Amino acid sequence: MSEKEFLDAIAAKIIVCRKCELWKTRKNAVPGDGSPESQIMFIGEAPGYWEDIKGKPFVGAAGKFLDALLSEIGFARQNVFIGNILKCRPPRNREPLPDEIQKCTPYLDSQIRVIQPKYIITLGNYSTGYIFSKVALPFSGITQAHGKLYEKSVLGKRITIFPTFHPAASLYSTIYKEQLIRDFRTLRHELQRKRIV
Ligand code: URA
Repeated sequence: MSEKEFLDAIAAKIIVCRKCELWKTRKNAVPGDGSPESQIMFIGEAPGYWEDIKGKPFVGAAGKFLDALLSEIGFARQNVFIGNILKCRPPRNREPLPDEIQKCTPYLDSQIRVIQPKYIITLGNYSTGYIFSKVALPFSGITQAHGKLYEKSVLGKRITIFPTFHPAASLYSTIYKEQLIRDFRTLRHELQRKRIV
């Protein structure tokens, strides 16, 4: 099977998943989107209103800003893979519950195993906390962790983790917006240095 076929098979399981209660309120599950061969994977938190309607990640206001940040580093959305910690929208966009994260993240782990990215960019507290926990890095919040490169073995493969703020944070705070722009510049320099862009 090709990487795309593996990812499609994971998506097919996600779409019918009933492991937690979120299937009852979702319109669509959001498995993730992008290139199966991408060297770069972005991980957000959970689908919001528009993602739930369209079944695609980051298609609302935060997604527009993410698109702008991606073009800053020389990528379009179809050249990277964008996924989330939770594949279904929590009601009223509440924060993910520990039980939901535990039940849903095996899907994300499977996606990471198939894509084998060189870089994982975690967006916000939930995805950073989850990936840090997998590599036994202490996590005391995105404010401390962001903007730095952490080279670690994730699911048996050497991966550079780069945490930054969630793009939705930029919608209510210019401080976070500026930090995100700065972090993406750091990322661009790193990717240029490694000749990935
Ligand atoms: N926020 C996220 O974390 N993920 C999405 O897909 C959309 C908004």
